[in-house]
Amino acid sequence: MFASTYLQARDAFLKAVSIADARLETIAFPNGSTKNGDDLFVDIASIGSKSAPNVILCISGTHGVEGFAGSACQIDILERLIDEDFGSDLKLVLIHSINPFGFANGRRVNEDNIDLNRNFIDFSQPLPDNDRAIQAAANLMPINGTLEAYHKTEKYIQLLLDTNKIYQVASDLQPGQFQDEAGLFYGGREPSWSHETFRKLCSKYLSDAKNIVAIDYHTGLGETGVGELIFVSPHQREVTKKIESIFTGPLSIAGAEDSVSSEVTGPLISSIADEVPQSDVLAAALEFGTCPLQDVVWALVIENWATRYFSEGHPLLIDARAQLKKAFYCEGNEHWQRAIIGRSEQVFEEAKNYLMNNT
Ligand SMILES: [Zn+2]
Repeated sequence: MFASTYLQARDAFLKAVSIADARLETIAFPNGSTKNGDDLFVDIASIGSKSAPNVILCISGTHGVEGFAGSACQIDILERLIDEDFGSDLKLVLIHSINPFGFANGRRVNEDNIDLNRNFIDFSQPLPDNDRAIQAAANLMPINGTLEAYHKTEKYIQLLLDTNKIYQVASDLQPGQFQDEAGLFYGGREPSWSHETFRKLCSKYLSDAKNIVAIDYHTGLGETGVGELIFVSPHQREVTKKIESIFTGPLSIAGAEDSVSSEVTGPLISSIADEVPQSDVLAAALEFGTCPLQDVVWALVIENWATRYFSEGHPLLIDARAQLKKAFYCEGNEHWQRAIIGRSEQVFEEAKNYLMNNT
């Protein structure tokens, strides 16, 4: 269930789709492949009546390399649903690997260094100006491609840790920036392919829905193995009580004091309500902790640096991608895997109970 590569994850997902007798749609990714030239895809599985008024939507791979955990959660849902009758009121939609390039190539971002979870802004408006994120990224990034600059950043991150400033820096970075196209947490200057594809899928699969629960799986923030359910829409501040009556914690609103996440600009799930304004949408990221925050920050910085200065196949780039994967995926750690699946099942059951009692 927990794969080592995108191709393994996709194969396992397709096998689970087939065994569960779910409907399958496959969309070919037009802008790239794996390092070995394998084609990439977004795959969509659905179960239950096509026009059901209640829908659970689960998305994996928004942040490519975080897709391993999300894919495993989706496969687990399919395996557990084989004998389950959804009836006419409930539909399940699983979007597998919405950012297939990032997933397959071990990057958190997409083929254009865009953080897909910052790309859902209104591009008809002036781009957000986020000086704090740009400054925080500039302070962290090694100034050139030398090992001397690399070690300087290593020391700087240690200093941030020693002086307890690492959380502040991470929260400055997290909202995203729209100026430096090679930089960290770059939101892009136009909708990416994955952005447009996600919107089309929402209007196709959710157009008849009255009530939607959307779960977008992420990793990298919070305590190892803990899955925090983070709601991001500002409107949902008003419905905190409702959320608390449906889901067991840990849950939070992004940007709130008790949340592992800062408020982000342009998250993917914020677009669902735009596409289906007639629906009541509860949308959250399910964020699984992996390792200490300083390791996550270090991995992000060094992977961005290595991508900037070295070509594919360079040992430093290979090492940086391996560090990124390790920071966002506790591969082979069975304790972590059990915790992830347990939490995912709990959230799924609570979403299902809420929707089935809602009609
Ligand atoms: Zn993420």
